[in-house]
Amino acid sequence: MKDCIFCKIVNKEIPSKIIYEDEHALAFLDIEPVNVGHTLVVPKKHFETIDKMDKEEYDKLSEAILKISKGIMCLADGLNVMQNNKEIAGQAVPHVHFHLIPRYNDDGYRFDWKKDEDVTEKENNEFLEKIKSFLK
Ligand code: 5GP
Ligand code: ZN
Repeated sequence: MKDCIFCKIVNKEIPSKIIYEDEHALAFLDIEPVNVGHTLVVPKKHFETIDKMDKEEYDKLSEAILKISKGIMCLADGLNVMQNNKEIAGQAVPHVHFHLIPRYNDDGYRFDWKKDEDVTEKENNEFLEKIKSFLK
């Protein structure tokens, strides 16, 4: 897609440190790594968010993520896999990408899962009922 920075990286219009490439996926180092080896894995086709992907493309992307994860786990002590959708969730680049963040013992990297107010059981139960109707 025109004006998409990751499409430009896929098309090699913008340089990147590519660590893996196949027909459907490209993986390159993040320009602002939060840890050594912070990698982004993207589908070559433009999808803004994960829910817009079709199964075939998602399966192909998953294959690349799995392959790269196995490689990272040979070099690191652990791995965080993260993927953000929409601004509220921290998505800055509107082209689906998975963050593969290698973890090293005592690496000093931390992210917290904190929320201002705890989720209530009522809220969780209401969500449970609603989401099930979309997954039948
Ligand atoms: P998001 O916040 O959308 O989940 O993550 C976007 C990521 O893309 C950020 O970690 C950011 O550092 C990375 N990024 C943004 N622009 C570029 C770029 O031009 N090249 C590379 N390699 N990474 C980028
Ligand atoms: Zn794109």
